Order: sequence, then structure tokens, then C-alpha cells
Amino acid sequence: MSDEDIEVDSAVFPLRSKKRKSHRRMKNVAKLLKLRSHETGPSCNCTRFKCFENVTERDRLQIIKQFNELKDHDEQNLYLNGLISHALVKRHRSRKNIDKDVE
Ligand SMILES: [Zn+2]
Repeated sequence: MSDEDIEVDSAVFPLRSKKRKSHRRMKNVAKLLKLRSHETGPSCNCTRFKCFENVTERDRLQIIKQFNELKDHDEQNLYLNGLISHALVKRHRSRKNIDKDVE
């Protein structure tokens, strides 16, 4: 009697084949989740731009939400690249002032 029970158990859980099938799908879900689960970090506490004073929490949430809704990693990179070149230009301009302010 008990021998039969064990046999049934191993038939109910065909672990190997089941695991393999769902693995691929899991990977896609994980990828998508990663794409959409960016969060805002702690304040950079910089005094030069005062980022967290100039951008309200509501704005930050809005921005991160939009960012998470971009359709794939490439879109997100493109978005960031656009912002990065802007930041560099800004930095360049304020360089004169910084030389005077420091010291
Ligand atoms: Zn900052």
C-alpha cells in the first residue's frame, strides 16, 4: 500500500520538465520587472545644483514613473543620454563662477 503512494507522488511532481518550461518565462518577467522597478534614490546633498530642493518629490515620482514606462532598456538609455549631455553643457557654463567662488 505505502509503496504505491510513493509512486503516485513522483508522478504528480514531474519536477524536471516543469522547471525547464517555466524558466524561460520567468526570465522575461524578471527582465520586465527590472525595467519597471527603478526607484528614486536618496538625496545627493550637493550644494551646487541643490537637486532635491529644485525638484520636488512629486516631480521625482513623476519622472521615475515615466522612466519605468519606457518600453525597453534601449529607450531608457536614450532618455538618460539626452539628459547627460544637457548636464555637461550646464556644468561648462558655470565653471567661471566656480573658480571665483572656491577660494
Ligand atoms: Zn545634486
